[in-house]
Amino acid sequence: MGDMPQPTEAMTDARHDMEICNACRYCEGFCAVFPAMQLHRAFTDGDLNYLANLCHGCQGCFYACQYAPPHPWGINVPQAFAALRVESYAEHAWPRPMARLFTRNGTVVSLLTALAVALVLLIAGALQSPDVMLRAHTGPGAFFAVISYRAMVWTAGAVFMFALLAMAMSTASFWRASGGGAPSAAALARALHDAMTLRNLGGGGDGCNYPGEGFSHLRRWLHHAMAYGFLLCFASTSVATIYHHALGLVAPYDLLSVPVLLGTIGGILMLIGTIGLLWLKILADPAPAARAVLGGEYAMLILLAAVAKTGLLLLVFRATPAMGWLLAVHLGFVLALFLAAPYSKFIHGLFRTAALIRSHVERRGSAA
Ligand code: SF4
Ligand code: SF4
Repeated sequence: MGDMPQPTEAMTDARHDMEICNACRYCEGFCAVFPAMQLHRAFTDGDLNYLANLCHGCQGCFYACQYAPPHPWGINVPQAFAALRVESYAEHAWPRPMARLFTRNGTVVSLLTALAVALVLLIAGALQSPDVMLRAHTGPGAFFAVISYRAMVWTAGAVFMFALLAMAMSTASFWRASGGGAPSAAALARALHDAMTLRNLGGGGDGCNYPGEGFSHLRRWLHHAMAYGFLLCFASTSVATIYHHALGLVAPYDLLSVPVLLGTIGGILMLIGTIGLLWLKILADPAPAARAVLGGEYAMLILLAAVAKTGLLLLVFRATPAMGWLLAVHLGFVLALFLAAPYSKFIHGLFRTAALIRSHVERRGSAA
């Protein structure tokens, strides 16, 4: 018989905390984690990974806990779960060798970003003369005078499709490990509602305990700005694709056109959300945080802010000689985001939604 793998420190901490919480149950009304926890008597690794992804890190249970440090039991649920969440992303990474990218994830995402931006700049510089890169281009097709439409679409399309496949495979693996099965339409709808409203950061109406012990909705609103801003930018690119292929309209588009309006509003929201979340993270009480995962979280927020900022700068300076280099830098950041998405904090949205679906499936099961 082969040796059983030793549980990691994060897994051991999470199991210790959940066993004490399951006896205490003081926090049972705080979020979805505690009702889900109460359906278990013992916790498998899969159960703990599921509960860790159900946790939104609101920190409410840390400040409410009479057994939190300096108590000898040292209960610190948000810290244990934050560390375990990253281990679960690595455990279900696809393809498997990519799991190692979750070690020192902040450095990995930063290097990936630097490489992607440098690569796009080098290729643009090699394929175009400095005269073309530094000249103002206007009218339909101006962007493609700098980087050809075919190169842009094939590169971004291939990387985007790979990112989608990798994220789908990782999430499916996590779903199977947490119990699998086909969820009902009602469980799906409730989970989607909870994910889209960040219900578990609501704190029963007063908000979460972030960045400190006081209650606040700020983190929830900033996260909404970032996530919905990102979705608006994605919608902008999708509409632009329809314009190009179905209507024969070639970018750049008017300031009041649908793609530009969606991209501008989305970019501003993303920038507000990411900078606000970075600011909150700097101010946050370090006691309930898992220090080892902070680098990856900072790196992803900075990358998202860079995508939004360079996109907005490109809009402002698109008719000037700065457009060529700005376009290359913006595409470099977008490429880095697609490449990093399955192997960074970005994946948490899918894992958390899967955990929310599981919690609604289990709740219906336990109520039946
Ligand atoms: S976090 Fe503390 S107070 Fe809350 S259920 Fe667990 S042990 Fe009890
Ligand atoms: S940190 Fe918040 S979301 Fe996570 S288990 Fe504690 S109360 Fe629930």
